[in-house]
Amino acid sequence: MPPVPHDILRDPVGSLPEEWDALCASWSERPFRARQVFRWIQTRSVADAAGMTDVSRGLRDRLAAMGLAMPAHIDRANRATDGTRKLLIGFPVGGTVESVLIPPMPDDDDDEDEEVAEAGPRAPAKRVTQCISTQVGCAMGCVFCASGVAGLKRHLTAGEIVAQVLLGRTLLEEGEALRNVVLMGMGEPLHNYDAVARALRLLTHHDGIGLSTRRVTVSTSGLVPEIERLGADFRGEVALAVSLHAPDDDLRSSLMPVNKRYPLGELMPALRRYPLARRRRITIEYTLIAGVNDRPAHARGLAKLLRGVPAKVNLIPLNPVEGNAWRAPQRADVEAFQTILRADGYSAFIRRTRGDDIDAACGQLALHGAAAVKRKLPVFAGAGEA
Ligand code: SF4
Repeated sequence: MPPVPHDILRDPVGSLPEEWDALCASWSERPFRARQVFRWIQTRSVADAAGMTDVSRGLRDRLAAMGLAMPAHIDRANRATDGTRKLLIGFPVGGTVESVLIPPMPDDDDDEDEEVAEAGPRAPAKRVTQCISTQVGCAMGCVFCASGVAGLKRHLTAGEIVAQVLLGRTLLEEGEALRNVVLMGMGEPLHNYDAVARALRLLTHHDGIGLSTRRVTVSTSGLVPEIERLGADFRGEVALAVSLHAPDDDLRSSLMPVNKRYPLGELMPALRRYPLARRRRITIEYTLIAGVNDRPAHARGLAKLLRGVPAKVNLIPLNPVEGNAWRAPQRADVEAFQTILRADGYSAFIRRTRGDDIDAACGQLALHGAAAVKRKLPVFAGAGEA
């Protein structure tokens, strides 16, 4: 499916270099001016024309007249004792989402050997992961999710998605480098496919932010047609994470209504067909909720379900919050779950919640201002991990 036409005047920060080329040509500007503007925005986080100091005065005036500006701002930034920074991002056109900067921890256990080998001995000491949002609210309605309880308010534009990274980058600390971006905050990324695909192109553009495609992860609740589309459009190079949270249709449908539309019988074959690069794996997110999906039978069911899928499993113990009807699993149950998966040959990692002291589990910061808390609806501490 061809991408939808892009209106650079409506979403300049979400525009690709060739679109700046065309605009500058229409203004009879010399071609290198377009790259200058693109780089100011995407590599220096400057979207205010007045700040583009090596751009001609005439072009700056035109850019200002077209309304070029950062389409987002940081409303609040909280830093946890573990270095996690949680940002509440506001938009001039309305709405707030959240984004989290997550520093590496000494005991991070997955892919470290692979990363060291890939990056070499002089790799940056602190590789930061940023979690970003793709919608204000979410239409998927997962019963345990903070982001989903109030429904979808609106899709973010590509510029609003990328702006979270442009703003987050300004908060990086000495010795830190942005290494990974995960689309795992508020919203279902694949429900906002065109803007997300454009944002992926911007995040990985070599003249801009320049992330490796394998360092950008799209996390989905399981929209099968869009998983196929993502695989085709990016040749499987973009990392994929899928929230399962249950090993069978009955349980999964009770937690995630999307499963009624795309049951496991459709989702799992789509994952097996995803055109992953050699030695890459799909991340399976599985949040453990005491007495709901954390029994040994669930672990055995998950191991069986994943056969033939090149997968690693993230086990996320539920982090209960006020008003949450769900309970965290016992540590012994989490470890038993992991043992069963590992015995079946799967890489399975137990994830810790980062930044507990600032409510940094996805969904919580925005949630604190939301009616969801007051309504005492069941709330999922890992909300947004679609
Ligand atoms: S878990 Fe993800 S897909 Fe489900 S409602 Fe929350 S944000 Fe949406």
